[in-house]
Amino acid sequence: MTPRRQSGRAPVTSPAAATVFTTVLTQGPVSRVDVARRTGLSSAAVTKASRPLIEAGYLVEMDSAQGGVGRPASPLDLRADREFFLGVKITDRELIGVVTDLRSQILVTKFHQLPSRKVDAVVDGVSEMVTELLAESKAYKQRTHCVGVTVAGDVDRESGFVRYSPFLHWRDVPLAGLLAEKINTGKTDLEITVDNDVKAITVAERWFGNGVGADSFALVTLGTGIGCGLVVNGGVVTGSHGVAGEIGHIPVFGDGPLCHCGATGCVEAIASTDAIVAQARTATGEPGLTMEEVITGARLGDAALRRVFARAGVAIGRGLAAMANLVGPERIIVSGEGLDAYDLFADEIRETFATQAFGAAAHCELILRPLPFEEWARGAAAIAVQTLFIS
Ligand SMILES: [Zn+2]
Repeated sequence: MTPRRQSGRAPVTSPAAATVFTTVLTQGPVSRVDVARRTGLSSAAVTKASRPLIEAGYLVEMDSAQGGVGRPASPLDLRADREFFLGVKITDRELIGVVTDLRSQILVTKFHQLPSRKVDAVVDGVSEMVTELLAESKAYKQRTHCVGVTVAGDVDRESGFVRYSPFLHWRDVPLAGLLAEKINTGKTDLEITVDNDVKAITVAERWFGNGVGADSFALVTLGTGIGCGLVVNGGVVTGSHGVAGEIGHIPVFGDGPLCHCGATGCVEAIASTDAIVAQARTATGEPGLTMEEVITGARLGDAALRRVFARAGVAIGRGLAAMANLVGPERIIVSGEGLDAYDLFADEIRETFATQAFGAAAHCELILRPLPFEEWARGAAAIAVQTLFIS
């Protein structure tokens, strides 16, 4: 079964059209002359590439003082409500769903508890979420064609398989196919795309967030897992085998603790939320400690707990430096729910990064960015927007 429709609906069918569309998507309104200047395309190429996008209703020409509609000086803008997109992020205990417009503005957000992590239960849950989101407006029902679904772990977007998801305990689940089968009954015919959650947020960040204007950047998420999306030369690095940017599994503590991935000394085995809690429980001899209590105790000055965070900071700093030394990004955006405890390991992260980054790699800017949970679902919707580019 092919999880993705081969309908040819995607309006962006040439590299020039993709360049024009992306420029207007991220920088519009913008005149054809400016599109040409910013992209290096000729004015004639911009005009030719934009025509079908205007005819399909994705771009509009605004009236211009310098000339009538159709003149090169008339700015092009996006018709954001031309199409709507659904994004669903699957976590280990809930689903977060959003409806967005073409510009990735969130229009509706819904949270659903997951009764179980079993594949059937999650597929049913996502299907119900999709139905509920579409029921919010007649326009969503009529003008939504693509759903993006994201999950942490090793996800093969092309085949729609979740190859390994540590938090759901899944291996080799054909998620896109199962969802398409469940959702596309009757009149519904939605294109389902699944991808890794951090890669998806990186797409949203590149188009609409702190990544705009950066030729290369890394988005690192701290929390239950430690992930990293990479943009190099303007493109999201996907990895030949679907895996890239796994900063959480860079070995930074030699023969250190065993990681759930099977390796030892990974950043994630020392600095993920679970790892921090486990080390704090061992250090204090209190088996019932929660992350909130660990954070509170460390802020109150508990030396053993502070050492756990300091070690996590060193592990994260080493991971960031290894990545910066290899890739040399302009900026690193640090985000995720782990940012709540950032004050407890910020110094160690920065100091270790500065020490371990090679030469000018240390000049890369570290930006902290809070990541509300619905942003994960917005990322999922952004990969649905991406399908406009793939025919
Ligand atoms: Zn690992």
